[in-house]
Amino acid sequence: MTPLPPGSVIGILGGGQLGRMLAVAAAQLGYRCHIYAPDKASVAADVAAKFTCAQDDDIEALGKFADGCDVITFEFENVPVASLNATAGRAPLHPPVGALDIAQNRIAEKNFARTHGGTTAPFAEVTDSASLDKAIDDIGAPAILKTIRMGYDGKGQSRIKPGDDLAVHWDAVGHQPCVAEGFVEFTHEFSVILVRGQDGAVRYWDTPHNVHEDGILAKSLLPAPGQIIEQEKAARALAAKMAEAMDYVGVLTCEFFATADGPVFNEMAPRVHNSGHWTIEGAITSQFENHIRAICGLPLGDTGLAADKVEMTNLIGGNTDEWQALLTDPANHLHLYGKTESRPGRKMGHVTKLFF
Ligand code: AMP
Repeated sequence: MTPLPPGSVIGILGGGQLGRMLAVAAAQLGYRCHIYAPDKASVAADVAAKFTCAQDDDIEALGKFADGCDVITFEFENVPVASLNATAGRAPLHPPVGALDIAQNRIAEKNFARTHGGTTAPFAEVTDSASLDKAIDDIGAPAILKTIRMGYDGKGQSRIKPGDDLAVHWDAVGHQPCVAEGFVEFTHEFSVILVRGQDGAVRYWDTPHNVHEDGILAKSLLPAPGQIIEQEKAARALAAKMAEAMDYVGVLTCEFFATADGPVFNEMAPRVHNSGHWTIEGAITSQFENHIRAICGLPLGDTGLAADKVEMTNLIGGNTDEWQALLTDPANHLHLYGKTESRPGRKMGHVTKLFF
């Protein structure tokens, strides 16, 4: 396709920090971003050329937004598919709506990975307390109960230990349709972060070792330990197959558990991802820039490492003033997202430390 010329408008659905970092990368390449988000306070709109504040299911507002964009992408996974379909034919959408459709449903996502040869945790659908009893009979405990839709950063999840009263867990997830997953005994967690261009070319960033605390990403570390590197090839092959099957354009992230039996697929994010924030300074081309390059039809940039060792730490909750002390270390690159209200578990920023 003909690349989008500088000055073109990129529509971004979602107004959080991922949109903010995408808008900064887009501006560097001469594009203007138009953010569409339901909340008035948007840290992405703060750095973008245009902002539409409207609900995700406001078909009229979405249509108007789409008419003013040269290409549309999303930074938020839970945009209703019906709303995206309403923009069809008005501006190209990358990644494709089919990818979002799969990623919004934990069961569809696991089945999709299995269809392409991936291994997942054992799982069963749970629709009521009787099916939860049966699921745990079949899968065993420990297990994790996750809402099929709308879960992120450990939200909408309940961890089941052997002997637990299952009714308590069913209450904890608000009686919503769920997937019960067997607990995976893993040595490490990692993610495959790839970018696929409009010509089908795929590039991978180095594989980060991801450390989670309370279900939230705490750190991404590179280079990853040997156990991860041994499983990288199989995990990349699965992610690439899935990307190809979806006719995917843009950055795709697949999260895995490294186990004694090889990589176990956990979930995919059809977008730039927290475990790729280190690429802003730690790689030659960041995930944000390459996502913009891919959706605008530009050549993809080099994804190679830009340091010997990289350490990304999320700044969650807490006090942003204290983080300014991080600036006294010249190896640190601080990113604060401009959120005025800090809450426990809220991602306020991150710091990337480079070692040479
Ligand atoms: P998720 O929302 O699926 O990404 O889960 C958040 C985090 O919970 C993961 O990164 C893991 O640390 C942990 N987790 C989720 N599912 C499982 C599982 N089936 N077995 C073990 N740990 C899990």
